Order: sequence, then C-alpha cells, then structure tokens
Amino acid sequence: MVPSALPTVDLLIVNGTLLTLEPKAKPILDGAVAIRGEHIVAVGSRENLQVHAAKTLDAGGGLILPGLVNTHTHLAMVLLRGLADDLPLKEWLEQHIWPAEKALMDAETVRLGTLWAAVESLKAGVTCVCDMYFHAPTVAEALEEIGIRGVVPESIIDFPTPSCPSPEVALEKQRELCQKYRHNPLITPAVAAHAPYSVNAKNIAKAAELAEEYDVPFLIHVAETRWELETFQKEKGTTPVQYLADLGVLSSRTVAAHCVHVTQEDIATLAELGVGVAANPVSNLKLASGVAPLPQMLAQGVKVGFGTDGAASNNTLDLLRDAQIAALLYKGVTGDPTCMPAPTVAALLTRGGAEVLGLGATVGTLSPGKRADVVCFATQDPHAVPVYDPESHLIYAARSADVQHVVVNGKVVVEDRKVLTVDEGALRKEVLRLAPKVRGAVETAKSQP
Ligand SMILES: [Zn+2]
Repeated sequence: MVPSALPTVDLLIVNGTLLTLEPKAKPILDGAVAIRGEHIVAVGSRENLQVHAAKTLDAGGGLILPGLVNTHTHLAMVLLRGLADDLPLKEWLEQHIWPAEKALMDAETVRLGTLWAAVESLKAGVTCVCDMYFHAPTVAEALEEIGIRGVVPESIIDFPTPSCPSPEVALEKQRELCQKYRHNPLITPAVAAHAPYSVNAKNIAKAAELAEEYDVPFLIHVAETRWELETFQKEKGTTPVQYLADLGVLSSRTVAAHCVHVTQEDIATLAELGVGVAANPVSNLKLASGVAPLPQMLAQGVKVGFGTDGAASNNTLDLLRDAQIAALLYKGVTGDPTCMPAPTVAALLTRGGAEVLGLGATVGTLSPGKRADVVCFATQDPHAVPVYDPESHLIYAARSADVQHVVVNGKVVVEDRKVLTVDEGALRKEVLRLAPKVRGAVETAKSQP
C-alpha cells in the first residue's frame, strides 16, 4: 500500500500497552489509538492500524488508557490547600474554610484557583472534573481555556454564597448556564444543591426539576457524616437518602457525593433509582467521616466513581493516589485481600466515573466513536519496572507523576509533562502572591468575635 492511500487521521498515539477499559477487554500490546477531530476513530495493535497521521504521540513503551474521571471536587479550593488540617469538620469549616471563602472567593480568585486545579488535575492524568463551587460561568470559561473536560454547576445553598445573594439568584444563574453550555463539547452544565441539611426541601426540588428540564447532572452531598445521618433520623425519622428519595429528587442523573453513612435499604434505593455515587475515600479518611460501603454498593449494582473532594480536605487532586488508597483500604477494612481488585478499581477511575456523571456514552473507555480523552503513563522509572499486568501496575505501582501525555477531546494538552495550554510558571507566581492574603483573611476572621 502506498502512503497516500492510507486513511488520514489528526493524531496517532503509539508505542504503549493499551488498556481500553471496555468491559472484559484484554490489554493490547504495542497498541495505537487513532484520533480524528474530537473523536477516537480506531483502536488496536499498531501493525493493524495503518494510517497517515498529521501528528504522532509516542507513549515510550508505557501505558495508554482513558483519562481519569474525578466525579467530585471543589476546584478553586486548591488555593486553601493545607490552610487548616487535623481539625474536626465543624471547626475546620466555620473557623477556617468559610471565612477564607467569604473574604477571597470573588470571580477572579475562583478563576485562578480553577486554572491551577486544572493544571494539577491534567498532570495527574485526570481529563474530566466534576466541580461543585461558585462563579460557574468563570469556572466553565477557565476549564474551556485550559482544555479539560468539566461538569460545572452553580451551587445552591440556603444562605448567600460568594457568587449568589440568594438561592433564587443561584437557580436563575443555573438556568443561564444550562442554556449556554447545553451543546458544548467540553463543558457539561449541571445543577447542584449543597446538601439535604443546608438546602430546604423546596429548593432541592426546584434544583432537581431544573436538572430534569435540561437533562443535566444533579449534584448533591449526601450522608457524608454520622452527624448528618443521626440528625435526619432524630428530626425526620428517616435517613438522608430516603428523605431525598421521598422528595422525588433522586434519579439516574443524580451524582450523590460521599454516601458514607448509608443503610442496606439506602443502598437498594440508590441502585433502584440509578443514582451515581461519587466516593471520596481520602477526604472521608482525613476528616474522619468514615468509610463508604463501596463493596456492598458495587455488589448491588450502584454506579460508583472516585472523587478527590476539594484540596482543602485531601490535600491534593491526585485521583490515582486516592483510588490506590481505596484499593488497600477496603482490603484492610474487610479482611479480604480479594476485595476491590485492581481491574475493578481501574474501571471505577475511568468508565465508572464517566457513567456516574452521565458521560458513559461520551468518554471513559478507549472506543471508536467516543471523544478522545487519553492518558499515557511512562513506565521507565525503577518503581515502574517490570510490568506484568498493566491494571495491577496502574493500581499498585504507578504514580501520577508518571503521566507523560494527556489528550482531551482530541487535543494534546500535556506533552512530555508540560501543560501546553497555559503558562504554568506564571500561574504559580499568581498563586504564591495570593497565599499570604488567604492566611491574613483567616487570621482577621478568627480575631473577630
Ligand atoms: Zn464536597
């Protein structure tokens, strides 16, 4: 065959072991992914994939897999990383996080935090982030600018937020966001109600109705702490999950973050209604909230993905590390070394996360027709040699610092560990310039009665 007769593609990723993460798929040695425009057009062994490519990306003999999906985070909170640690949740929130947010989180600061979080995410192999914060139009613009896939809501809560004086204004802004971004290839608009204890039933219902109207994800924190479960049992005679189910707001478009303190009946309800659970194992450990019953959820068919939560309670957006900790945590908790095996954890990091966010048909596996969100992990350093089983390698040996190249929506956004779409050094300077102001705001708030 002469070269001119070959099909033409825009990007070809070669020289790596391919994990498509399609159910039951085997690794493909010396695999390749062909991308045209925003989509994957072919996946297979290099020798069977003869194309003419405008650009070729060399995976250097490492792993090629779908981008990781962070199903729950608060991106701009990277600016509060390490500001207050080792504290009870209430004191941490009320004396440190909320004062800092109130004093600082204007649109421009949220933009800086979101960009910095996106840089951290991309360099950790995360190609899709589900945010839950304020100033949604700014967040959406920042994510589009840097070229990472995002699920972006404006958050409703029953008191004024840094971006909205009232829940009514937040709902109006959510509607505008849904209209503007409903057909965007990178940004999925969403509607978020903070939690069943911080948003009243009427507002939760309005938010869920809006999500239904536009068929977008409905995000909510659910049953994060024992306090929340006990308060609902005492005051309403039911659990947070049953309360939301009775309100009629849970559906297959719901992304329920945490679900740590859920009963057997709650798990059955989550499965029956098709609710997606965004599990945040490391945030839950750090705030001593508990351990979500993921093995039971998976056994009963609940959709599950991983999230980092905000960097103020983690303290990084290193989703791979969090999944690796989860893989070990559940073995320790159950006493069963077969619990949460590597292939399961790898699937939750990618396909599972995409399904939780309602993006299962769009991303989450390396499959022809899906959008091209691809990550290449290097396997050159001592901790990464040799590799017998790529899924075991990913979950028990790989580090996010091994991420070499990242493609989102067909575009190369990280090449040889360099983010191509922003000036990382300039952003770092801006973040460092802001840090003393963050500390000052907290000190001022603490000195006030
Ligand atoms: Zn959260």
